[in-house]
Amino acid sequence: MGVEKVVASSSELFVGNFRDLEAIARLLQKSFDGAKLYGYKLQNDRAVFGELSSVSELPLKVADVQKPGSYRLVSGIRFRHGSGSPKVYLLPPEHAFIVVSQNYDIAELYNGVKEGAILFGIKPCDRKAIEILDRIIYGKNPVYTKRRDAVKAIVVEECLEPAETCFCSAVNAGPTISTGFDVAYARLHEDLYLFKFGSSLGEKILSRVGVKKAEESHVKEYLELVNKATSTMNTRVPSTKNVQDNLKARVNDKKFWEEVSSKCVGCGNCNYVCPTCFCIEIEDRIEDGYSKRVGMWTGCRTYTYGLVAGGHFRRDLYTRFRHFVLHKFTFYPMQVGDVGCVGCGRCSVWCPLGIDLKETLNRLTEVKVQ
Ligand code: SF4
Ligand code: SF4
Repeated sequence: MGVEKVVASSSELFVGNFRDLEAIARLLQKSFDGAKLYGYKLQNDRAVFGELSSVSELPLKVADVQKPGSYRLVSGIRFRHGSGSPKVYLLPPEHAFIVVSQNYDIAELYNGVKEGAILFGIKPCDRKAIEILDRIIYGKNPVYTKRRDAVKAIVVEECLEPAETCFCSAVNAGPTISTGFDVAYARLHEDLYLFKFGSSLGEKILSRVGVKKAEESHVKEYLELVNKATSTMNTRVPSTKNVQDNLKARVNDKKFWEEVSSKCVGCGNCNYVCPTCFCIEIEDRIEDGYSKRVGMWTGCRTYTYGLVAGGHFRRDLYTRFRHFVLHKFTFYPMQVGDVGCVGCGRCSVWCPLGIDLKETLNRLTEVKVQ
């Protein structure tokens, strides 16, 4: 699996500018035989996750305004993320496990990538989501495994000002990062970057770039912004323990679940945009003269999710709505020892009805169990 998993080896911060960011990308690509860069970029005025021709494609001159059911880009420097995430690269919405020609030759196996990948400018919550996916599907889904192995380096952009829908700090997924990356940066101002390294590779790269040690005033400003972001986000949702206790107490509270899911239409958008949702359904198809076995994203809130040969085991929408919340906060901890939500807020932003996970979690702990 690419990228050393090391504890942040230094609390030291360095200061630089966009040219240093470019140099970091160049050196990383050189270290891995021209590995490709993947990150956020603008495409037709939309923020997408995909291959970058260079770091100048990063959305460095826009800010996103995110609210439940609403997303807008404006000029600024605080871009958090779009609907896509590194999941789009690691587990594409449709991925072929095997492609067989009419002569029964295997034309493609596991939809792998031929070259190395550098995830550049992903967010701390994205990195935590990859850690969760690693624990669940690495070694099990061959496409994910191959693509994950192709990741040679990870560069993270920390978030100094969260969107209205973010609560990463409350689930220990941001806004800063201390493990599982090579280089991280935070933008204090438009062209003032603070850098840190999280691996020996990152340390080597930063020393070759020649960034200078940050001044006390930079560190002070950085810490003030981080503390403000953290304390703001921590008050947005109840503690994980409180959520888990209340989920246990009201798992069979049909009235509550019907109420909080009353607007849901079961479209599954929340599943598709969630960086930790990994469910797929598998289809065999004939296409362009080839037979293919393809994995396609599906989601626990869609109608067909519980439809099996013997009937439907989650016919009522409230049970599917409930499953999403239970899975994130109760079942993931049982499966992988950590909650499956990284507090990115995408499920609220991209829900066409603006159903806000924060509100569900707050109601869960505020309303008395019947
Ligand atoms: S459940 Fe919602 S807030 Fe949590 S990780 Fe998924 S999309 Fe983000
Ligand atoms: S995005 Fe909203 S409406 Fe669609 S399934 Fe999720 S909660 Fe329901």
